[in-house]
Amino acid sequence: MERYSRQLLALGLELQEKISSLKVAVIGCGALGSALAEMLTRLGVKELVLVDADVVELSNLHRTHIFTEKDLMRPKALVCKEYLKKVNSNIKIDTILDILDSKNAEEIVKGNDIVFDALDNVNYRLVLNDACVKNNIPLIYAGVTGEYASAKIIIPGKTSCLSCFLEPIDERNACEIIGTTIATIDIITSIQIQLLINYLRGRYEDEMIYIDMEDLRLEKIKMKRNSNCEACSLHQYKYLKSKFYTCGMLRSEKSGKNIFRSSEVEIYKDSEGTIICYDEKCFKKKEA
Ligand SMILES: [Zn+2]
Repeated sequence: MERYSRQLLALGLELQEKISSLKVAVIGCGALGSALAEMLTRLGVKELVLVDADVVELSNLHRTHIFTEKDLMRPKALVCKEYLKKVNSNIKIDTILDILDSKNAEEIVKGNDIVFDALDNVNYRLVLNDACVKNNIPLIYAGVTGEYASAKIIIPGKTSCLSCFLEPIDERNACEIIGTTIATIDIITSIQIQLLINYLRGRYEDEMIYIDMEDLRLEKIKMKRNSNCEACSLHQYKYLKSKFYTCGMLRSEKSGKNIFRSSEVEIYKDSEGTIICYDEKCFKKKEA
């Protein structure tokens, strides 16, 4: 407990014991996910599951703490695991080099005490939301656009869920690349972690927390469950049944010209974008 002595002074033993028994999944290991994974490791959860199929690129480095120039072309989830093991070797860390879609979402979230949404695409978020609501697992969402960000806890059966107020977006708009800053990422992921701590204390509200970094303003907007929500009210979970493809990473076949090969990953390029392959499993990143 020496490791957590200063944290114990703030949180108390009972709360630390709850944290130390948690199995947590972080869906996405980019800017949001790598920041969350680091904080969860330092906080002292029992088990982490990191899910991402992407590799580190130069354009990721401005908004992350874990990734360095040495990690370029390496799978984000593996780089995170390697770093986190140095921070706390007692934590069990599993990596899944895959995207989360309707094919595997339930399988990935089942067995976790809590799930963090660190995705960058509304359509995949709705799949994740369906999987968590259906399996009664709390989900902590965050989204960023420029220097604005929002976060919310979703407790199935108690609070509104993402499907209560979010609609899928069509392929053209889903392709849009959204910029942000490391300061925005750090604040909103810290709020996600605090939502977890407060939830473990039994404190939560059905509200969206909204941050405007340029104005240094935080707002909390009351939310309400939608009685027509197809996930939390009608239990239809349509995003788990449908295959709706968007931009971001998509399941793909190996094609194009090989541009990189290591013991961890093979990368190909064709006219549509980059193809990242782990053994026989490939994912296409469409260029916007
Ligand atoms: Zn809902």
